[in-house]
Amino acid sequence: MGKVLMIGAGGVATVAAFKIVQNQDVFTEFMIASRRKEKCDALVKAIHDKGYKADIKTAQVDADDVEQLKELFNSFKPELVVNLALPYQDLTIMDACLACGCNYLDTANYEPKDEAHFEYSWQWAYKDKFEKAGLTAILGCGFDPGVSQAYTAYAAKHYFDEIHYLDIVDCNAGNHHKAFATNFNPEINIREITQKGLYYENGKWIETEPLAVHQDLTYPNVGPRDSYLMHHEELESLVKNYPTIKRARFWMTFGKQYLTYLDCIQNLGMSRIDEIEYEAPLADGSGKTAKVKIVPLQFLKAVLPNPQDLGENYDGETSIGCRIRGIKDGKEQTYYIYNNCKHQDAYNETGMQGVSYTTGVPAMAGAMMFFKGLWRKPGVWNVEDFDPDPFLEVLNKQGLPWHEEFGGDLEL
Ligand code: NDP
Repeated sequence: MGKVLMIGAGGVATVAAFKIVQNQDVFTEFMIASRRKEKCDALVKAIHDKGYKADIKTAQVDADDVEQLKELFNSFKPELVVNLALPYQDLTIMDACLACGCNYLDTANYEPKDEAHFEYSWQWAYKDKFEKAGLTAILGCGFDPGVSQAYTAYAAKHYFDEIHYLDIVDCNAGNHHKAFATNFNPEINIREITQKGLYYENGKWIETEPLAVHQDLTYPNVGPRDSYLMHHEELESLVKNYPTIKRARFWMTFGKQYLTYLDCIQNLGMSRIDEIEYEAPLADGSGKTAKVKIVPLQFLKAVLPNPQDLGENYDGETSIGCRIRGIKDGKEQTYYIYNNCKHQDAYNETGMQGVSYTTGVPAMAGAMMFFKGLWRKPGVWNVEDFDPDPFLEVLNKQGLPWHEEFGGDLEL
């Protein structure tokens, strides 16, 4: 039924690949392409070593290069391209999709390399082109963004006439037993969390200093955790799609040790994303040096633990959900919908930790919605633009069951 090309072979892609292989009735042909073909081949081997039988093709591609992408798309002819590389590649992959008649799905909004800036305008600008080409683009189909929007859409569809207050709460109560590590690509992660906070209230966006606003929130099966207000991309589409929202915020938990390291990293200049000159030894072994340009944050990424290697000793769980207050039949209603995911369960199934798992499973589920014809309409769409019901049903069956609480104290 479906021919899918996945770009990227990192943590999130590994989980998505396992899930695609577990659903071969939907995904009948599968190729993995990434910057390094050997990483794709290693992923295929990991899948076969777990006992799955699947014919998976692999290829090398530089996804920054539209011509290389076009060549690959024209030879494999995928119906859907699932972009699990980095946000920097969103637009080149969308361009190649348009040129070759492929549909598109990703898990993070476009970011220019030289500016840590999170907004959908660049990708929304492709709406007309995808519409005219009769192609579907599904943006931000991970957990948050992604499931967080499906949860909100589900609440709006079934339980509220008007949503007034929305708080997306993201807790990682796991321990990987490293002094400092990020749970997904370190460069992308550190760019995100060192940004100013931003939330929406009464029609306006309000900026805060980075991680300046925080409070204890109680997470199911976890307990209270200090949670920090951050900007997160899905707020932008949610307040547009649900205009009754008076306030929308996003919260993420961080431990004290993590924040101390982050502070040091910033104070040392290691989170800088501009190029600096560095006197480096020449590779010819002559002992001579030459000035090279490096980006400190990219260098830091090279020395930090790879998020793909954290799974084995990771204990604890994630708990991510939406706390919503609004009106149903004239009465005030509160609602909390969430998923808890244990890192060890994720590791046992896919070799990856829970953060990769909670992103990779929805990416597969979104792709499945596309192939089943349920999330297929020409244009560029966010997750809440589609029917949440079949998507949430799939998550229930594919390792990310969700739970609901009605009428509780949301703490917010
Ligand atoms: P990784 O760094 O582990 O994986 C990225 C993969 O893309 C790597 O295999 C990398 O190759 C490959 N890649 C990078 N640049 C290129 C390029 N130019 N051409 C081809 N391949 C390339 O990242 P994660 O798996 O942790 O994250 C993947 C995506 O998921 C990111 O966009 C991230 O922002 C997003 N994400 C979304 C979340 C959500 O809930 N919505 C949560 C977490 C992550 P190589 O291995 O050679 O470096």
